[in-house]
Amino acid sequence: MEHNIKEETLTLTVIGSGDAFGSGGRLNTCFHVQTSGTQLLIDCGATTLSGLKQRGIRVEDIEVIAITHFHGDHYGGLPFFLLDYARQNPANPLTIISPPGCKERVQSLLDLLYPGSLQLDNLAVDFIEYQPNEVVKTNNLVVQTFPVVHVAAAIPNALRIKIGNKIISYSGDTEWTPDLVELARSADLFICQCNFYKKMSKGHLDYQTLLQHLPTLSCKRIWLTHFDAEMLDNLDKIDLEYAEDGKQILI
Ligand SMILES: [Zn+2]
Repeated sequence: MEHNIKEETLTLTVIGSGDAFGSGGRLNTCFHVQTSGTQLLIDCGATTLSGLKQRGIRVEDIEVIAITHFHGDHYGGLPFFLLDYARQNPANPLTIISPPGCKERVQSLLDLLYPGSLQLDNLAVDFIEYQPNEVVKTNNLVVQTFPVVHVAAAIPNALRIKIGNKIISYSGDTEWTPDLVELARSADLFICQCNFYKKMSKGHLDYQTLLQHLPTLSCKRIWLTHFDAEMLDNLDKIDLEYAEDGKQILI
């Protein structure tokens, strides 16, 4: 559980740790990772642009955005992010890694929300589509994808992201699946969605189920995230660390 400072340290900042319903006033999912070489967002929920500005993070400095699935609290911030990005004259191109179809979905959202304002073809944005169980290499990142158990139409995946010698794993939204064991294996930080305390719900994890499987997880550190109101009401009974908006760690 000690910080590993043998090589480059990376900083992870929680931009949004909430669920789809804004429970507890928490913002939708987004994690910001900074290394000396790259700034990365993991998921880009609807509230992300405001969240980044709360933390003084500039959109034009983001080089990679990795998306787990197509639910608005995980990717719905992309139209707003890109509208702002387009007017900042960014020095570096942006890469968006996602399940198939992200560009089309985001262009549709832009056309609905801001008709005629932005054509993605006019932006220096590289969309990389991944399949489950694939390894994507870009911008000094190695991103391994894992299919997870959530609303299938949203094409849900978990991501294991290697940056230098550090590994950040993130479950995305899922119920318990044995793939989480491999996802979390030896990760420096495993961010695990734990929507509920004991309410069992299809497509989401609850704390009691996670505790049953906790011995199988070999990550060095785990943070829970994506809490609903029931989970927030039981925070005093949670023995694991959890994400909160603005929380930051060095890895
Ligand atoms: Zn979801």
